[in-house]
Amino acid sequence: MGKRVIRSNAKRVAAEKRLIPVARRLRDLFGVPVRKRKLPDPLDLLIATILSQNTNDINSHKAFVNLKSVYPDFIELTDANPRSIEKLIKVGGIAKKKSKTIVSVATEVKKTFGRFDRKSLASIPPDQLVDKLTGLDGVGYKTASCVLLFALGDDDAFPVDTHVHRILNRIGIVHESTPDKTYVTVRDKIPSGMGYEIHINLIKFGRMICTAQRPRCYDCTLYDLCDWDEKVEAPPLKTGERNQLKVDFMTLEEV
Ligand code: SF4
Repeated sequence: MGKRVIRSNAKRVAAEKRLIPVARRLRDLFGVPVRKRKLPDPLDLLIATILSQNTNDINSHKAFVNLKSVYPDFIELTDANPRSIEKLIKVGGIAKKKSKTIVSVATEVKKTFGRFDRKSLASIPPDQLVDKLTGLDGVGYKTASCVLLFALGDDDAFPVDTHVHRILNRIGIVHESTPDKTYVTVRDKIPSGMGYEIHINLIKFGRMICTAQRPRCYDCTLYDLCDWDEKVEAPPLKTGERNQLKVDFMTLEEV
């Protein structure tokens, strides 16, 4: 994540204010993302988020489809044997751990919420809902805020995954050591109604430009706004390299 530097309070405030120009420039680069017409079911989204941990979009989606083919309604997972789930989701990796989490989450959801449909969840104030969701074993801030953002259509929710965490820290908007700490610091700073746009555009940016290894600082629209000590002015793009920026991109709402 680069060397840490001690910054004055004034500099920290200035860095936080960079969120708005960052959002504007990403909008210029990627546009305003458009939501799917139909929001995914909240329990489908919750399970899909667990399946997405430590794997890629394609394998996570395959695991989801396999699980759905046997359990069309995920609430039935409350009675499932984790071992049979493990086989179905093996393609998504760390299947033993995920299968136990999935059965436990489905069981706790039934106990804690009774109904886990959009209307019932939307009646709970967002902060309380995040607290209730993170009270479930295996559900952290990222998963909880994904449920709010994608399944409830809450444009103030702001999930922080590894991409979002890495970029906000490199730029210097936050100085935190984990995605959860970044979430806690930044959640109230997201301009009202812009959680979906900023989240989606940061993830695109993290996959295409500000990648974990060898970020394309030389092709970065945020270069002058970025505090990262290790940002590099690398050689100019080779012929055709810009085309490689196009990558397949799939969000959790596509379950
Ligand atoms: S300058 Fe480099 S490190 Fe900074 S945001 Fe751009 S790509 Fe990321």
